[in-house]
Amino acid sequence: MIPQVLHQGLPQGLVTATYLVAAVLFVFSLGGLSKPGTARRGNLLGMLGMALAIIAVTLSGDVHRYGHVLAAMLIGGVIGAFVALRIVMTAMPQLVAILHSFVGLAAVLVGINGHLQGNSLAGAGLVIHEVELLLGVFIGAITFSGSVIAFGKLQGLITSRPLLLPLRHGGNLLAALACVGLGALYLDSQPLWVLLTIIAIALLFGMHLVAAIGGADMPVVVSMLNSYSGWAAAATGFLLGNDLLIVTGALVGSSGAILSYIMCRAMNRSFLSVILGGFGSATGTGTVNVEGGTVRSLTAPEAAELLDAAGDVIIVPGYGMAVAHAQGRLQQLSEELRKGSTNVRFAIHPVAGRMPGHMNVLLAEAKVPYDIVFEMDEINEDFANADVVLVIGANDIVNPSALEEPNSPIAGMPVLKVWDAARVLVLKRSMGTGYAGVDNPLFYKENTRMLFGDADEMLKSILEHL
Ligand code: NDP
Repeated sequence: MIPQVLHQGLPQGLVTATYLVAAVLFVFSLGGLSKPGTARRGNLLGMLGMALAIIAVTLSGDVHRYGHVLAAMLIGGVIGAFVALRIVMTAMPQLVAILHSFVGLAAVLVGINGHLQGNSLAGAGLVIHEVELLLGVFIGAITFSGSVIAFGKLQGLITSRPLLLPLRHGGNLLAALACVGLGALYLDSQPLWVLLTIIAIALLFGMHLVAAIGGADMPVVVSMLNSYSGWAAAATGFLLGNDLLIVTGALVGSSGAILSYIMCRAMNRSFLSVILGGFGSATGTGTVNVEGGTVRSLTAPEAAELLDAAGDVIIVPGYGMAVAHAQGRLQQLSEELRKGSTNVRFAIHPVAGRMPGHMNVLLAEAKVPYDIVFEMDEINEDFANADVVLVIGANDIVNPSALEEPNSPIAGMPVLKVWDAARVLVLKRSMGTGYAGVDNPLFYKENTRMLFGDADEMLKSILEHL
């Protein structure tokens, strides 16, 4: 029975039915991932769908060299498991970026292979096939090189400052037009050099699009590349005639586009300017006017005293909390304060940390109750009523220059208005800037007190003195 299945493949009806089940599981998976409480289940459903998809594709009858496939899966699986087990939570965005690049590269390779294999199509069928091939390699190459640059920026290998070449929009337009012209030439006579030139231009185009985007705007880029990788996969699905890959690619592409739209709204950026690249940071230098300011610091026992006396406390976590793994200690602090009948709430900025939902995940892991965690829009006007705001390892997301300084690189980005509270406690190690590299006038405000040190160690000390 098994040798027969390996030889002839599963019946087509069974393969199609399995594809359908896998596609439904992917939809449920996305649904589950929309809330922290159901995210784990969403992940499991996605994994189950992918396992079914791999089995169905492998046994569909289209695969003949099982040895090659198994060896590739084994090597890829071992590398993937090794990397996933070793990766720290704060490095997750760069891992996601590099994984997107693999999808893009795969789309390019499948496209080149499609060309080299040739086909016996003619007329409209041939044109459709060639357009699928061109779209696959074009989107794939942009996704690949853009994701590699995003990886470099997130990993700190490349500066997070935007690369602003003169005439960059003109250059982008020229590259796009050149690809359209070359695409028409390819449809006409299918020369390999044209295909390779399109790939080369698209690679440069992708690099430039992402290189032109600066620090604080990276979250939008990561979700945009996520969307691109989905469309590249969908184009590959058309080329390979695989319905499940088309559906899966479209799901990733459209959910990534929706996420990008949400991130654009959160960052107050226009969706179109993201797709065109090089938005934001056009004039800003990273230097914000904070001259003549005085920094007032306090000690952990003093911070404990302040928190003890407060009736209404809002906690704002940021990337530094993730670095310090301070979420557990933060939960302990909030429990202690709540026992003393203090009203404690958490305020989450949409781009806090280094990936969408980063803070939600960490707080959920530390078992902070969902009903005291609020999104920016729900809580931003409430800071004025808070006695104390504890900003822990956050910087860009609480930077008033975004609202007050038109020349700031983060100008226009909505931020948490923590300075409206009676007292702001900022817990971080130094006066250093955040990801966007912008000075923060919050640290010099009259009602701000700096608590210098590692987030976890300082929280431990505060807890001891409460
Ligand atoms: P920031 O990067 O602006 O600031 C984090 C702060 O944490 C730093 O200023 C640092 O100051 C402090 N810090 C670092 N380690 C520790 C530690 N061990 N203990 C205490 N403090 C520490 O983070 P935010 O969360 O405020 O903002 C996120 C930024 O990242 C935004 O610019 C956003 O656009 C960008 N981004 C977000 C992504 C997303 O999807 N969420 C993806 C990519 C980028 P110090 O060194 O003085 O301690």
